[in-house]
Amino acid sequence: MDSGQRPSDQTEKSESTVERDREAAALVGPRIAGRIARLGTETAFAVSAEAATFAAQGHHVYPFHLGDLNIPTPSNVVEASFKAIRDGKTGYCPNAGIPQLRAAVAADVSASHGLSYSAENVAIQPGGKPVIGKFILALMNSGDEVLYPNPGYPIYESQIEFHGGVAVPYGYLEGEHGFVIDIDALEAAITPRTRLLVLNDLQNPMGAECSAAEFEHLAELVLRHDLTVLCDEAYFDIRYSGTSASLASLPGMAERSVILYTFSKKFAMTGWRLGAAIGPREIIEVIAKLNVNDESCSNHFIQYGALEGLTGDQSGPRDIVSVLRERRDAAVGLLNATPGIRCYRPKATFYLFPNVTGAMRSKGLTDVEDFRRAVLHETGVSVCSRVHFGRPQPGESEQYVRLAYSGIDTPQIVEGLGRLKAYLAGDPSDV
Ligand code: PLP
Repeated sequence: MDSGQRPSDQTEKSESTVERDREAAALVGPRIAGRIARLGTETAFAVSAEAATFAAQGHHVYPFHLGDLNIPTPSNVVEASFKAIRDGKTGYCPNAGIPQLRAAVAADVSASHGLSYSAENVAIQPGGKPVIGKFILALMNSGDEVLYPNPGYPIYESQIEFHGGVAVPYGYLEGEHGFVIDIDALEAAITPRTRLLVLNDLQNPMGAECSAAEFEHLAELVLRHDLTVLCDEAYFDIRYSGTSASLASLPGMAERSVILYTFSKKFAMTGWRLGAAIGPREIIEVIAKLNVNDESCSNHFIQYGALEGLTGDQSGPRDIVSVLRERRDAAVGLLNATPGIRCYRPKATFYLFPNVTGAMRSKGLTDVEDFRRAVLHETGVSVCSRVHFGRPQPGESEQYVRLAYSGIDTPQIVEGLGRLKAYLAGDPSDV
């Protein structure tokens, strides 16, 4: 792997970053550091606020906007966490996590990926999200280029730019059964400065999934261009049919991949905040050192709950997936029966990314945010749109919204999407 100092480039880039920060400082305010101008956010939270305001005015809202779950955490996880509190697991614990949980995560991921990780390859984190910033801090020098998915989870771009890198987007195309990475464009975007690739297979917001051939193509590019990869696998276990696969499992990839693992989705533990970084020992040691400097350690007693989640009764995560499967089927069926909408049926994740170009045309709308607001106000159906997942790229002509079905029960899905269908079919009596 390129241990990577490129002295003259680095100096140039650092100076330009300093200058950019000085200029930015003038914009963000007198007391605020200039780098804050480069920090992004999750604009989807603004959609939640808008939906809450609309509901407070007395309207019924169908919440398809946020990727949170309204399903309880499995009771064995809850009980094991309470027991750990009662047993006094309330002090600090090792920065990289309790050894038993590190070993259990290593065993779980080794089994699902056909790899042989051990506890030293795992650094427990307060959620999956912190892995993104720590991966970038550990591996990216100022001015390095990082490939990231767009549409995609907005924190990648935010963290790359915040830490002085250059965020280089790659996009997706509509394939036969789902979205596929525009791999030719991705390849064309690689330059001598490209250091990292962020891959979110089983993707938010599109539900996209790489085929074996796409993984091979990506692995070949990673090796040829000496890249290191963040495999964001937040949805690896939210799977309805088939088997999840990982780029990290391909020959030569585990040595240059860090896997983002989370308890949030599989165990409906979003608010508990627990995840892990899994990868080569020397990178995991750096990430654990960042833990020391940041949160000291992840929540101690919750790690015992997570350990029970991984090693105890597995009916909890199975039930979560079967509830989500029913919701997916209801939502996909209704969306595809709605005029002007077409939607894939992803085999994993809890997101749908329907093409709404025709529906917008039928309402005389050209801006997808106008469409999103019209749908909220006319039907109560609250969704995110393409713009919440990164800046639209030149040449994009089709329009999309994102529905998350993790926080809404099937009867409400049926009612809400029934109203959407009536609205788009122009039948006001049904809305
Ligand atoms: N990665 C992706 C693609 C996500 O969608 C999310 C959450 O929505 C995360 C990472 C982080 O989740 P958490 O921090 O709850 O583990």
